Amino acid sequence: MTSQRTRDRLIARLRDKGIQNEHILNVMRVMPRHLFVDEAMSSRSYEDSSLPIGHGQTISQPFIVARMTEVLLGRGVPEKVLEIGTGSGYQAAILSQLVPQVYSVERIVALQTQARERYHALGINNIALKHSDGSWGWPQYGPFPAIMVTAAPEEVPDALLEQLAVGGVMVIPVGSQTGVQKLLQITREADGFYEEVLDGVRFVPLLNGAVRK
Ligand code: SAH
Repeated sequence: MTSQRTRDRLIARLRDKGIQNEHILNVMRVMPRHLFVDEAMSSRSYEDSSLPIGHGQTISQPFIVARMTEVLLGRGVPEKVLEIGTGSGYQAAILSQLVPQVYSVERIVALQTQARERYHALGINNIALKHSDGSWGWPQYGPFPAIMVTAAPEEVPDALLEQLAVGGVMVIPVGSQTGVQKLLQITREADGFYEEVLDGVRFVPLLNGAVRK
């Protein structure tokens, strides 16, 4: 169920759905997604679907991971990336193989702890984790040339716009939990912000505050 053949099938599917960046496809071929989901779910880990990871959260669908990563790297490889919503840690793990340094913020401490253990087991050491409300970004390490948000706010948080470097790109799902969410690409130029709607998507909500469980 987690064999290389099963993984290769997923990569073929991502390519069929329009993912072209070979670096991303290669990293996704190699990264063991089954180690980022509960064992009970591991037989489904190379299906192109989101899966529950506990605490009412989900690991994103591989196609969405690939798509958001492709958009984020569309202007070349940034020196660092800020991710909001560590969750299982899978998206950040993919980014860690493509950019020099990843910063990721999560509000549920138990998910953060699990992600940290996974990185340790996999020998990944270029991801810095912070337990906080990601709406505030991570100002200490900003501005960031690339920001990826993996939970949906109703509006783009101001702090994230402020921490986006000039020339930088942010990928973020925006919208309500009942209606349709839009995946936005926001770029910052010297004269302001530019927004492009990419796809209709469905993400868990970006919630307020950090929780200790
Ligand atoms: N990137 C993750 C996707 C996880 S789902 C992965 O690859 O598995 C979205 C995550 O965002 C959840 O873990 C949720 O707890 C987290 N989240 C929601 N609101 C947040 C906030 N305000 N700050 C930080 N993390 C938040």
